[in-house]
Amino acid sequence: MTTASATQTTISKATSAESIRAAVSAAGIVGMGGGGFPTHVKLDAQVDSVIANGAECEPLLWSDKALVLRHADEVVDGLVLAMEATGAGRGYLGVKAAYPDVVASAEAAIHRADPSGTRLSVARLPNVYPAGDEFTLVQQVLGRTISETALPLSQDVVVSNVASLAAVSAAVRSARPSTDRFVTVTGFVRSPGIYQVPVGTRLSDVVTAAGGTDLERPALVTGGPMMGRLAGPGDSVSKTTSGLLVLPDDHHVVRARRVDPLSALHLARAACCACGECTEVCPRNLLGHRIFPDRLMRGMASGLTGDVEAYAGAMLCCECGLCTEYGCPMGLDPRGMNIEVKRRLRESGFVFQPKTESTPSSYWRIKQVPVPRLTARLGLSDLVAHLELVGRLDPGVVRIAIRQGSGAAPKVVVEEGQQVRVGQVLAEPTGRISAALHASITGRIERIESGFIEIHRAGGAA
Ligand code: SF4
Ligand code: SF4
Repeated sequence: MTTASATQTTISKATSAESIRAAVSAAGIVGMGGGGFPTHVKLDAQVDSVIANGAECEPLLWSDKALVLRHADEVVDGLVLAMEATGAGRGYLGVKAAYPDVVASAEAAIHRADPSGTRLSVARLPNVYPAGDEFTLVQQVLGRTISETALPLSQDVVVSNVASLAAVSAAVRSARPSTDRFVTVTGFVRSPGIYQVPVGTRLSDVVTAAGGTDLERPALVTGGPMMGRLAGPGDSVSKTTSGLLVLPDDHHVVRARRVDPLSALHLARAACCACGECTEVCPRNLLGHRIFPDRLMRGMASGLTGDVEAYAGAMLCCECGLCTEYGCPMGLDPRGMNIEVKRRLRESGFVFQPKTESTPSSYWRIKQVPVPRLTARLGLSDLVAHLELVGRLDPGVVRIAIRQGSGAAPKVVVEEGQQVRVGQVLAEPTGRISAALHASITGRIERIESGFIEIHRAGGAA
């Protein structure tokens, strides 16, 4: 499972809303789908529905599917606890219909938890990207449209990743803190699979555990090929690291991450044909949000700033990358342009004025992008594989980032030279939107610096 087997935290086993939130807070659970928002804050709301997000729409990633396949009862238990915490009357476990074994596992667990089917159900999702985006997911499952810059909460719903919910179950039922996570390790490694990785494990150790690579110049991407980031071998796994892709250094997915904004702007000037394809595929535009990457590209390419709506729309970009990787026939980077404009607008103190209601395009369903087609476009079809859970890594060293998600960094409560046990608190929350941090291995704290706590296992290799 996704948590340590030993702990020094004290978590109530009662299941009142308050005790569930307290247990989740003590366990330091954050959104493990990538957002990293503290889960206890998410559960501090009153809604009518909770959706367990098992969409896992990024090509090649398999961790959430494996979790639902092998640990569906824990996921469903976490879903039920989230419903109790939020007062929700309905719970949905969202999984892709394209994976019948995953659907069957989800349905069996749902049936065990709610034989009458009055409160829980499986939501069968289409195999599209980005099905796991909360806006798209809520539209798909409940037919409710989240308006510009709003949260699922605005539509009376909480969305939580399946791994986070399994961690909620472990925290409430067994007082286990969030110290490990499942990571899809794939690409050019000898033994691709789903590995249970202690938080803080160096990526080089993860690659070694997966059999190493034959590539002369490997590049590492954490996350998926669409929204993941380039990383170095000394970087470490965090609570939000869903995948580790090992790709040739000259692979398209890697090169695309090295294009700087100025070069992208020159390319846009030279090659944007104003075809509008980037906007046609934009999932937020399809939901009726005022985001128009084609108009932004034209504005940037021409140097004209008259189209204020197009510039402001950059604030609505979820950075999914469809416009760049799938829409644009000229190989340009509208996503990068959106990110750059968003950054500049934020720096300038710009305040976006959202519309309070949005109406999806009548074509939003049929315009969604099938994952197999996207995978082929990325040049990754040969790497697609149904991956299995392999086992837990046992690293000699972990380098744990003190700030693991989007909340405030917790306060370190340990010192260099101190011995710690797996599950021991390393840092305590500094406010409501902040998550606790725990040791993921037993050992000695060698260093606390640059935002990291480094622990060496007793007798472990450095
Ligand atoms: S990355 Fe592109 S497709 Fe995705 S939301 Fe932003 S503009 Fe739209
Ligand atoms: S898809 Fe590419 S070429 Fe077409 S408008 Fe968008 S950026 Fe320009």
